[in-house]
Amino acid sequence: MSERATPNYCPYCGDEDLRPEPDSHRAWVCRACTRAFELAFLGLRLHTESYPPGRGGGVDTLTNKGPEQ
Ligand SMILES: [Zn+2]
Repeated sequence: MSERATPNYCPYCGDEDLRPEPDSHRAWVCRACTRAFELAFLGLRLHTESYPPGRGGGVDTLTNKGPEQ
């Protein structure tokens, strides 16, 4: 869990000259555009066909509307 995720390209300019920030575990500095940014692992996302979640589960949403009203 303590391994540093290594970016291959700057997300802003696409350059490959990235250096780790010594004061942070997940911060990087792009030497080309001088931007500093952080990488953070947010968790696992399972691929579901009902994404985005606001639309509901498709067929389930249709069947719930019928008999309950
Ligand atoms: Zn850059």
